[in-house]
Amino acid sequence: MDYAHSAQTLVQLSYLAAAFLFIVGLKRMSSPLTAVSGVRWAGVGMVLATIVTLGYVGLGDNPDVRLNVALIVGAIAAGGVLAWVSGKRVAMTDMPQMIALYNGMGGGAAAAIAAVELYGGTEQSTTHLTIAAVGGFIGSVSFSGSLIAFGKLQGLITKSVRFSGQKLVNLAILLATVGFGVVVVSGYSDGPLAVSAFFGFALLLGIAMTLPIGGADMPVVISLYNALTGLAVGFEGFVLDNAAMIIAGTVVGAAGTLLTQLMAKAMNRSLANVLFANFGESSAAGGATVTGTQKAIEASDAGVMLAFSQKVIVVPGYGMAVAQAQHKVWELCQLLIEHGVQVRFAIHPVAGRMPGHMNVLLAEAGVPYDLISDLDEINAEFETADVALIIGANDVVNPDARTNKASPIYGMPILAADKAKNVIVIKRGQGQGFSGIDNALFVLDNTRMLYGDAQSAVGQLIQAVKAAG
Ligand code: NAP
Repeated sequence: MDYAHSAQTLVQLSYLAAAFLFIVGLKRMSSPLTAVSGVRWAGVGMVLATIVTLGYVGLGDNPDVRLNVALIVGAIAAGGVLAWVSGKRVAMTDMPQMIALYNGMGGGAAAAIAAVELYGGTEQSTTHLTIAAVGGFIGSVSFSGSLIAFGKLQGLITKSVRFSGQKLVNLAILLATVGFGVVVVSGYSDGPLAVSAFFGFALLLGIAMTLPIGGADMPVVISLYNALTGLAVGFEGFVLDNAAMIIAGTVVGAAGTLLTQLMAKAMNRSLANVLFANFGESSAAGGATVTGTQKAIEASDAGVMLAFSQKVIVVPGYGMAVAQAQHKVWELCQLLIEHGVQVRFAIHPVAGRMPGHMNVLLAEAGVPYDLISDLDEINAEFETADVALIIGANDVVNPDARTNKASPIYGMPILAADKAKNVIVIKRGQGQGFSGIDNALFVLDNTRMLYGDAQSAVGQLIQAVKAAG
């Protein structure tokens, strides 16, 4: 066996090992118990694939090989430093826009590979160019769309641009992209102008598609772009004949698609609605109006109520994340457990602002996983709870979703906190949740409002429970 052949075999085997590591990593990420190790497994796979690719390029017979290796090492160093610094600095609440940014970079990288192929001319077969163009198209849309999503979540873009005939304009941009794509791959025009027009329109499409979307649906959009990035990487893997890219891209594409569907379902939106409606419009304020008054409670009384309960179910939401109250919440729960109270945590799939948001925060605070249940597991148990303690959650406990057909969130599965004997809601005031609607739970007879920032209100509850003996 000659040297080149053995090197090829080794490279392919390494890619297989990297793919195995990605898949095991992803599997482990599906449980909070094993998620951290899952990230490490996938990380090792990524490092392996990168080193092997680098070595492969270094071994190639390309005369520009030194320059290529220098460029790759430079890119890895710059990207690595930027990712390390931003990863260390980012606040938990800013994680969605961070994911949007990283995701966009993946799409952009796939599009860049396609650009190299397409600008390279028509020496390649039509099939080869078509695969490159499809991946380039998807990657470009994902790149520019993700950047807009980042801008919106970061507060850099504050308006949702909407005008009549917008869908027609988007359709025209799509057709122009496809048109130039056909011109490029058919070899009708092999000049750089057609390729540039193809990429220009594809990038414009990503921007035009994302601009009208309200912040409300942005996490679903980010997840969708994540799936698209995976798909684009998979296509470019075929172009480069790189097994690791094909497998990793397919896995990311499939995982992103499943996550998008899961989020859409938990928000009671169809995928088609997410894709083609003016996102956020359906969840804009309006629809149901809630009548009745909210009844306040003092922390001292709420503390006594909690201390003398048998069973308390805690429902955390976005407000707990904003207040960074998770450590105090766990401190309170430990105190209650010492008092002989049975404590459980109920997590709604879209509580907070990103999938798994609450799980991550509770894990950070050291809450044992066996105390945490998801919606399906816990909903029947609210009836047996003495207190449902809602901490900065709103939409995910709005009973209108179950009972009021006029409500914009009607049909969304919610945590049945209203079924508990008593409900204590911690929030700062009369502020609405993400969907911008009033909450019927807050005016129920068995609900009491403990107004204040989640962290300080829970701090007061801790003092009150201690005082209750
Ligand atoms: P929510 O409906 O957005 O409500 C959060 C509540 O927290 C607000 O009503 C606010 O009321 C209160 N709050 C804010 N800051 C606070 C603080 N410092 N201390 C105490 N309370 C504070 O939250 P949610 O129940 O978690 O529901 C999540 C929403 O996000 C859903 O509508 C979901 O569809 C949407 N969403 C989630 C995801 C996801 O992946 N998780 C993705 C997309 C959309 P005050 O202003 O009165 O304090």
